[in-house]
Amino acid sequence: MSTLQGGQVGDGLCARLALSVPREVRRICEILRAQGHGAWVVGGCVRDLLLGRPVQDWDIATTALPQEVMSIFRKTIPTGIAHGTVSVLMGGRPHEVTTLRAEGEYLDGRRPKEVRFGVSLKEDLARRDLTINAIAFDPIQRELIDPFGGQEDLKRGLIRAVGNPMERFAEDGLRPLRACRLAAVLGFTMDAETEAAIRPNLSVLAKVAIERVVEEWRKLLRAERPSLGLKIMRRTGILGLHAPWLEAIDEERFRFLLGWVDRLEGDVCLRLSALGHGLEGSALGAWMKKMRFSNEERENTLAILRAAQEIPEESALPSVRRWLGRNGIKAAKKAIALKKGAQSDQESLFHLCALEEAIQSVVERNEPLSIKALAIGGEALLPLVGGKPGPKVGRLLEALLDEVLEDPSLNTEEKLLERAKVLAKELK
Ligand code: ATP
Ligand code: MG
Repeated sequence: MSTLQGGQVGDGLCARLALSVPREVRRICEILRAQGHGAWVVGGCVRDLLLGRPVQDWDIATTALPQEVMSIFRKTIPTGIAHGTVSVLMGGRPHEVTTLRAEGEYLDGRRPKEVRFGVSLKEDLARRDLTINAIAFDPIQRELIDPFGGQEDLKRGLIRAVGNPMERFAEDGLRPLRACRLAAVLGFTMDAETEAAIRPNLSVLAKVAIERVVEEWRKLLRAERPSLGLKIMRRTGILGLHAPWLEAIDEERFRFLLGWVDRLEGDVCLRLSALGHGLEGSALGAWMKKMRFSNEERENTLAILRAAQEIPEESALPSVRRWLGRNGIKAAKKAIALKKGAQSDQESLFHLCALEEAIQSVVERNEPLSIKALAIGGEALLPLVGGKPGPKVGRLLEALLDEVLEDPSLNTEEKLLERAKVLAKELK
């Protein structure tokens, strides 16, 4: 009776899972099956499916060889054919279909020297990093294949390496970082043996291409609670390797930073500006460059820090407008979010809310904050400065902007021209 019940519950689960797999993905699996091949969705998508989290991309694994996949489907792209991956166009979108594979010896903990096709599904699952990432689901037969206890670990909220963690982390140094990142993203804890294998393999992580590393950092920083990963990263020395200042600070300061980062919304730049708060602006910028964050990410982060340093002490509109003019509205808003996350006293919080309201009113009224937004251009001012363009025009415009920031109602062509006549004389 109990087995029967268990079976029914399981079947119910698999039927539900199958319906959550997008139609095109099921169609691809169905076509492969009809040709006599095995086909499963596998890896991160099955993990997220079982957790009820939104699935980013559906990876399909098949017994068919890449050439066979290319001949079965009309529209394909040989995305990563050396590693067995072919993209199949279905429903107007590409879907990655990868031949079951085992990985040969690893070179320098970076990438396998070779891949081997013609292996079983279990072997393919065995090369994956974590038990929760090593589950396959057949959406046609409606069957879960879970040889390493991944579902059990999902239930327990446990990050655990497939097989021997020491060996697995020595093969590919990125895995420990992926494990920490997933702990943060999923709110999971790390199995003790898995965690213990991180420090001895830091030299392998040190050799991993920085582009792979920064992608994990980004995902970590977008997690609901980055602290859950950062804590393990500090204990195991990953922070010492990637972000040494976060290892050097004392426990109390570190705990404060963790709380701060968690309270902020999941924005990479905002959270980095909290983590880099104790650093000088240029040091954080240099670090972000070394880690290969994009120029845009670096500029945004530094802009948030700059805006935060210059937050006006009063919420009177002219000072708020000047602050917005110098830093831009986006960075200013984030600077307020940053400061709010630091959770200082009631009075500061009150002030930050007043600033937010002030920004809101400036935005709603679309008030001019830059020279570009002035109702008059440099050309109209030329007759006042001897007819020739030059630095004086710029200074005149600056002076006009200064007055407009004080009183936006001055921003009409007529009024500005009038003021410009007076100011031009003063400038001489
Ligand atoms: P995300 O939700 O961020 O996409 P993911 O686990 O799906 O996380 P992917 O990079 O999309 O990450 O990888 C898909 C799957 O490939 C993983 O779930 C895992 O099974 C396997 N995998 C990825 N990277 C590694 C690795 N470094 N070592 C072993 N297996 C890996
Ligand atoms: Mg994925």
